[in-house]
Amino acid sequence: FEGKRSRVGVVVFDDALRARMRADQNLRRELTDALAGGEFEMYYQAIVDAATLEVVGTEALVRWHHPDGLRMPGYWLGFAEETGLIVPIGRHLVRAARAGAHRLGLPVAVNVAARQLAEPGYVRALREDWGEGDWHLLTLEITESALLQDLAQVIDSLITLRALGVRISIDDFGTGYSSFARLAVLPVDVLKIDQAFVRDLDEPGGVAVVQAIVSLAKAHGLDVVAEGVERIDQFETLVDLGVHKLQGFLIGRPTSAASLPVELTAASFGRVVESRTRRESS
Ligand code: C2E
Ligand code: MG
Ligand code: MG
Ligand code: MG
Repeated sequence: FEGKRSRVGVVVFDDALRARMRADQNLRRELTDALAGGEFEMYYQAIVDAATLEVVGTEALVRWHHPDGLRMPGYWLGFAEETGLIVPIGRHLVRAARAGAHRLGLPVAVNVAARQLAEPGYVRALREDWGEGDWHLLTLEITESALLQDLAQVIDSLITLRALGVRISIDDFGTGYSSFARLAVLPVDVLKIDQAFVRDLDEPGGVAVVQAIVSLAKAHGLDVVAEGVERIDQFETLVDLGVHKLQGFLIGRPTSAASLPVELTAASFGRVVESRTRRESS
């Protein structure tokens, strides 16, 4: 009986493993085909300055136009990182982001996975893909997990990039493992407040978290951007707390470069303008 049971166990495990491997193989092939077939597109989401309500930049967010429909990065990006496929895909996306920045006439923030940054020759590849010049139009968003890689090498790369004029932003700040003390030695320009903290603004202690990030940024001379701003009350609270650059569905959704100007005339952005005007005149 013992033997039978374990034999069954082994068979089941085998099947599951085989199915998993087949699925992985499929996804790997699909991602490779997608890159060759031009199925990846950068969408752009506006970042506004609260004082002027001008769009001061965008964040580029990858979208995969799979033949069966749109696939959001949450479904495949982790796999692309694990397999290293993010490296060639990321190179393609930097070229796309440069074209987008020029088309929109706006700076662009490009997300970089830890796996990409840790690649030997990352800086050389980026210089090739972005092309020389217009470095002031590029911000790189890295997460705290990038700082768990070979820190000396990562810092080295960041210093080189900043010397070119690239801005470095720490994405999802406060959700990772980087210690506050380490910030002082990191060559960074921007802290990006994670959307979880924006969502929790009306929870007990929520305001204190944002206050802490803002004063930390001030102490180190860093810019602050809030992401995931969905409601006007969140927008106004953030501005009151000293966050002047904001991004989120309230202002505009990520959309193709062609549709971004239309997205920004949408009613939601009008509500921001209204609320700001009301505040100024009161
Ligand atoms: P992220 O960089 O933190 O990007 C913010 C995510 O929040 C995006 O999801 C964006 O569409 C979404 N978002 C923006 N405003 C709002 C809002 O008001 N409410 C809510 N609920 N969500 C909002 P997305 O596009 O699915 O991207 C997910 C993550 O995938 C990104 O998080 C980033 O880490 C990664 N990613 C996206 N594009 C790229 C890329 O080109 N390269 C790399 N390496 N990673 C990317
Ligand atoms: Mg980001
Ligand atoms: Mg983020
Ligand atoms: Mg995030």
